[in-house]
Amino acid sequence: MKELAGQPHFDLRFGQSIIINPLGPEKLCSYDCIYCDLGPSEVRMNQIKKEIQFPSVKDVEAAFRASLRNANQQGIKVQSLLLSGNGEPTLYPELPELIDHLLIARQELNPSSQLILLSNGAHIDTNKTVHALNQLDERIIKIDCGNERSFKKINSPLIRATLSRITSGSRKLKDCIVQSMFYGGPKSNNTKENIDEWMELVGILKPKKIQLYTIDKPPVDPSCTPLTEDDLYVIESLIKRKLSIASEVFIKQP
Ligand code: SF4
Repeated sequence: MKELAGQPHFDLRFGQSIIINPLGPEKLCSYDCIYCDLGPSEVRMNQIKKEIQFPSVKDVEAAFRASLRNANQQGIKVQSLLLSGNGEPTLYPELPELIDHLLIARQELNPSSQLILLSNGAHIDTNKTVHALNQLDERIIKIDCGNERSFKKINSPLIRATLSRITSGSRKLKDCIVQSMFYGGPKSNNTKENIDEWMELVGILKPKKIQLYTIDKPPVDPSCTPLTEDDLYVIESLIKRKLSIASEVFIKQP
């Protein structure tokens, strides 16, 4: 995604949505997930810190306002404003300031929409970040596995992230939703061992909801394949049986 704020589009999980991309034209992420649909993470973390010129808060806000105005003029009822973009949005160095500006613009232009963060959860490490994220309507954190070995294989963090740091950071939030990608193929994370460990971890985190989904765009590693609707419902039924956490399955119909 190149634009700082996209055009409204229908998203399976979020309805009519606008994507906000504070990262600029290149994919910038602290993970290199096996299933990512944005391509490989080629910019290393030290380059991100030293070399990347992020768009200004003013420019992101202006693009966001233009997208919302455009949607309003077209009579499109936008439900979700997704702070995600071209990688990991919490890498944006002025995230708290940006969130303040987005909230004001949202209030003026579409107060009934929800401002939602989609994050890998690896950078929730200061009170300032926690406070900023808590101003949003929803905080969605990615957790695809339940042990550190699988975490390295699936999410390939480019920083010293661990699942336990991510869960302890996420527990500082007032609440969160967990999003979990399950996929098939020779490196599948849809194994009994992984699901059991993942459920244990998610049970400790106690999110308000779990979103289950599978691959619907070409992944970085072509050996990763989509699961079927039934596969995801099997996981959902385990959640219902073992955890008292609401869950939802999202799958694109062919
Ligand atoms: S965290 Fe998201 S953007 Fe980053 S590599 Fe994984 S799927 Fe891609």
